[in-house]
Amino acid sequence: MRRFGLAAVCVVVPIVVLTTYLLLQAGHQPVGVLRDIGQALAALAALASTGWLARRSTGRVRWAWALLAVSAVTALVVEVAEAAYTIGSGAAPRFLSAADVAVAAAIPAAIAGLLLFPREVNQYGALRRAGLDVAMVALSLTFIGSALSLPQLFVRFASPGGSWIGLAFPVLDLVLLAAIFLALRWCQAWLRAQIAFVAGGLAVIAISDSAAVFLAAAGHLTALRELLSAGSMYGFALVAVAPLWPQAPEEPIPESHGDMPLWSDLIPYVGVTAVAVTAVVMSIARQPMTAYAAASAGGLALVLLGSHLLSREEARHILRQSRRAEARMREREVLLNNVVDHAPQGVATIAPERRIVSANPRLASMLYAPLPVLAGALTDTFLPESYVARVFRSFAAIGTGAPETYESDCQARRADGSQFWIHWSVTPIRKADGTIDYFLATFEDVTAKREAEETAVANLAQLEKLNRLKSEFVSMVSHEFRTALVGIQGFSELIKDQDMEAAEIKILAEEIYNDSQRLNRMITEMLDFDRLEAGKLRLDLKRLDINQLARDAIEHAAVSTKKHTIQAELQPGLPDVFGDPDRLFQVLTNLLSNAIKYSPTGGEICVGTRLNGGAVEVAVQDHGRGIPPEFINRLFGRYERYEDKYAGKIIGTGLGLAITRQIVEMHGGRITVDSVVGRGSEFRFTVPLASTAASITRSA
Ligand code: ADP
Repeated sequence: MRRFGLAAVCVVVPIVVLTTYLLLQAGHQPVGVLRDIGQALAALAALASTGWLARRSTGRVRWAWALLAVSAVTALVVEVAEAAYTIGSGAAPRFLSAADVAVAAAIPAAIAGLLLFPREVNQYGALRRAGLDVAMVALSLTFIGSALSLPQLFVRFASPGGSWIGLAFPVLDLVLLAAIFLALRWCQAWLRAQIAFVAGGLAVIAISDSAAVFLAAAGHLTALRELLSAGSMYGFALVAVAPLWPQAPEEPIPESHGDMPLWSDLIPYVGVTAVAVTAVVMSIARQPMTAYAAASAGGLALVLLGSHLLSREEARHILRQSRRAEARMREREVLLNNVVDHAPQGVATIAPERRIVSANPRLASMLYAPLPVLAGALTDTFLPESYVARVFRSFAAIGTGAPETYESDCQARRADGSQFWIHWSVTPIRKADGTIDYFLATFEDVTAKREAEETAVANLAQLEKLNRLKSEFVSMVSHEFRTALVGIQGFSELIKDQDMEAAEIKILAEEIYNDSQRLNRMITEMLDFDRLEAGKLRLDLKRLDINQLARDAIEHAAVSTKKHTIQAELQPGLPDVFGDPDRLFQVLTNLLSNAIKYSPTGGEICVGTRLNGGAVEVAVQDHGRGIPPEFINRLFGRYERYEDKYAGKIIGTGLGLAITRQIVEMHGGRITVDSVVGRGSEFRFTVPLASTAASITRSA
């Protein structure tokens, strides 16, 4: 814009100076030369700026500016020649000399340039409408021109060479004015300002031409005539500043055919009004109507009729279009309603004060509330009030155009009071002034998803824990194995290398036996557990006397300890149980070996049996260290060992009780424990009676 202002000042100041001078010195010889120089400079400026913009533009725009530059060049050559002639011959060329013919030669290039500017996409009937409008403008101008007897005046003032030159002037001016009208009407918005300047300049050239002739004929107002004959100076000055007007960025041609500005619709009617006024003035002045005027008036009437018919046709077309659009809208509305009604998500529109305006059936079923109840209800019934209010408030600021959507999970309440999890997303829908009209919200029931996620997280934690326990187990087992093997190796080396008494050898052999027993037990436990895990362990079930089994186990355990006494409190006459003798023996041995291991200071261990409903309950009680309450829950888990300062000293895999529980449960029994730290523990398990098991098997 600064560049334009600067150029405007550079153009306006010399023009004002020159104009003042022309007005003061009207009629003198040097004035003619000065005027020619002024005109030549204006044409030069126009040539420079249009040429500059033509170089910078592309496509049609480039050609349009180039043609305007050609027009300026023509004018420049003519004016220079004219000035040279005036100076050389000492006399001004005759009015409408050959040089003026060359000015006229500048006009066709300008017309072509104007019409070459790219056009706005046409609306319906725009071409016909433009044709009619151009005809209306041309006929109005013809009427006015002939009413003012312009053709005759031009002919009278033309060089004696031929009257056709005189006629060519008004015709060219007419075509130029029509082209200006068309260019203004068609031009794309981003070019409109520049084209308006060019059009203004060319209009000045066209009108000043005719006006100068008219005034010359009238023979008065010399000063004004002087100004008018310098018309091309003003005209080209306007053309010269046009390219410097800041250009709006080129917009893609809009698909929706933008409405024409009202003024461009009204221009043709200005002409028609002028015709009417002229006709009235002529009839008052009793001036006869020329043949041209009459013909153009008749033509104008026909064009007006055509324009009227076209308007009616356009109106009908628009009506048809709007009916079609309405039908399409209705179809879309139905489709949209169907989509919303059958959407897998709940959808609702909510007023800013948290009142549900409308909801779809899915939301109704999600909230256990019928649609009529939902419509008009407050969201507070279903969603936490302060939370929703806070979310809505966060949108209160006028929209910045950035996407505004809030999404989150939250707990919701159904109509029956039950809680569930939803994922909701809310978007404000704003009015034209930016204030919020309503909120559009979608809801998804994510309770199942969240539960699945929570379970997955818990499973993952469990897996991680197992993994950790397993690696601890591997390092612990290798440590235990090595300890046992080092013992065996050391003792056997002693026996091999040293002379010993038989009694000493016996003691060492017992140690070796104990170590290998431990190794054996650990390997057995690991293999058993592996088979249990893989589901490969099969029970060999038969009737058996549990008391006898308990006695055998006590006898077997008693061998491995001297510090403990093992009591048997077996209820006599117990009915047979149904079980796998080897596996139940293993259970008893496990419990007894734990009782021995975890009462390191020795003491009494008691094995008891008693009838308990349809099963026999076996209890193994010790007076050892006991089990801390926080460990009781994990006691029967795999690889679980209680970590305290004694843990490292007592050999074990953490699998014994896991295996024991599996075996008991495979028999259809249960295992429980009571323990007090420092006092001892009592493990109890049940084995179903043979009679009960048989009846269960039968009924199964
Ligand atoms: P381990 O091979 O370590 O003995 P178990 O599965 O048999 O493995 O036992 C798991 C843990 O339970 C033991 O490490 C020990 O801490 C605890 N435990 C088992 N039996 C007793 C008991 N009778 N008294 C005290 N603690 C016991």
